[in-house]
Amino acid sequence: MARRRFTVTAALPYSNGRLHVGHIAGCYLPADIYVRYLRSLGEEVAFICGSDDYGVPVALTARKEGKSPAEVNDHYRALQRADFEGLGIEFDIYSGTNSTALHKRFSQEFFLKVLQNAHLEKRSQEQLYDPEAGMFLPDRYVEGICHCCGAPGARGDQCEACGRPIEPTLLGDPRSIITGARPEVRETIHWFFRLTDFQDRLRQWIESHEEWRRMVRNFTRGLLEAGLPDRPVTRDLDWGIPVPLEDDPDAAGKVLYVWFDAPIGYISFTAQWCEQQGGHWRDYERWWKDPECKIVHFIGEDNVVFHALMWPAMLMAEGSFELPSQIPANCFLNIQFPGEEEQKMSTSRGTAIWIQDYLARYDADPLRYYLAMIAPEDQRTAFRFDDLVRRNNAELVATLGNLVHRTMTFAHRFMQGLVPARGELAEADRAQLELVGRLPKEVCEQLEDYHFKAALQAIMAAAKETNRYFDYRKPWVLRKKDAAVCATTINVLLGTIKTLAVVMEPFLPFAAGKVARMLSCEPQELKWDAATRPLPEGRRLGEAEILFVKLDQPPEEPSVAVE
Ligand SMILES: [Zn+2]
Repeated sequence: MARRRFTVTAALPYSNGRLHVGHIAGCYLPADIYVRYLRSLGEEVAFICGSDDYGVPVALTARKEGKSPAEVNDHYRALQRADFEGLGIEFDIYSGTNSTALHKRFSQEFFLKVLQNAHLEKRSQEQLYDPEAGMFLPDRYVEGICHCCGAPGARGDQCEACGRPIEPTLLGDPRSIITGARPEVRETIHWFFRLTDFQDRLRQWIESHEEWRRMVRNFTRGLLEAGLPDRPVTRDLDWGIPVPLEDDPDAAGKVLYVWFDAPIGYISFTAQWCEQQGGHWRDYERWWKDPECKIVHFIGEDNVVFHALMWPAMLMAEGSFELPSQIPANCFLNIQFPGEEEQKMSTSRGTAIWIQDYLARYDADPLRYYLAMIAPEDQRTAFRFDDLVRRNNAELVATLGNLVHRTMTFAHRFMQGLVPARGELAEADRAQLELVGRLPKEVCEQLEDYHFKAALQAIMAAAKETNRYFDYRKPWVLRKKDAAVCATTINVLLGTIKTLAVVMEPFLPFAAGKVARMLSCEPQELKWDAATRPLPEGRRLGEAEILFVKLDQPPEEPSVAVE
């Protein structure tokens, strides 16, 4: 079968902070699982991510930390990279919108093309102006009461409570976040993207994707029914990509709005990666302009508006790119502390668990496991540290780790550390081989549908069943009664563990790597299509290693850091 080709992206985090477990559960872990799975199948994949460096949030952090925005970019981008690496999340490239000249060029050319195609128009806009600071107040420079849901503390770009875009001049009781002054309304010129031009095409396009998650379809349908407002693509700001119209005095002092340039980063980073690989940057076209290549955007709930409506509309307006084929979005991950109600994870309230703090004390796999098992795939779920510890101990240690440990120690003690011969199969052996033989296909079907939780549940169910087989066959008794039957049992168990290693690798890459060493497997033996191929008899096994360590229930919540 011909290899399939995929461009897989994960949402670009602002480079003004580190990552917490909510970010990871939202899009980075599912994207990494999916990419590892595709690579194991032998598909061609470009796994693209990077930081969103422009815009108000970064400018505000720079202001707060007394640094230049570019310094803030570089500082946090490096830390984010370390968080991802520690968790085994391996992008082909983790760039940044302010770290490559290609991005500026791609964004400016994109703008000009959309302008040329008559989907941008200049309009005078009323905007909030801080008379004390002497500047306009784009986006998050202003806060007030949401005009959609009435929640307080809504930022000028989007309401965190209801997820809807905000029209800043409609905010109730608006305040400048720089001076606290009540802003006044002034006129300014901006370029508006005529989203209304794409209302019908977007509707048809979304209706044609029945396989998308319900949350994505329902949310976008609701917004389309309400009617999409035209949106400005420029800002009065000094931090961003300049509007590339040098001859137009109205463009002076304006930059591209960050929602416009950020997703173009997926494309410009791909071009940068092509160049890094020793190719030409233009090779990005086979990842973005070829209908044979599937484009998959992993995002969190807060990004659905941008990735399922604005970005596809931008691509339609530009005209030369392919549209995404899937937008797997997760809902938010809440957090629950002992004796407290479930609550939203918030960096400002200090109710987030930072990856840096977690990795300083624990291995990556238990967190990957737990986040995949409680994945908020179609509804919000809650992270509980005591639950992570409980599931680590009961499932990873007692089920999966125990199966591998007792099989390996038995083979080393009584089989001379070799893969024993498989003799005649009894009913129980055949049932076990059938069980594990079905597993790769079962997991594959779930992953092709982006059902990560269900795939991992199938793997753990098989591990549990295999422990039952071990207990039923009792190799420690067989050893003295019938050496050949005992050898067959251990052979079947080692083969099962190899299959488990292949299918668990996307979820638990560190543990899978240890199992591969224990079974002395070459990389090609661990490809998806080799998952059920038996181990060669007589092969020398590697040292037995501990896969997962038991964790203690912490006396209190660990490392609930305040930013
Ligand atoms: Zn709201």
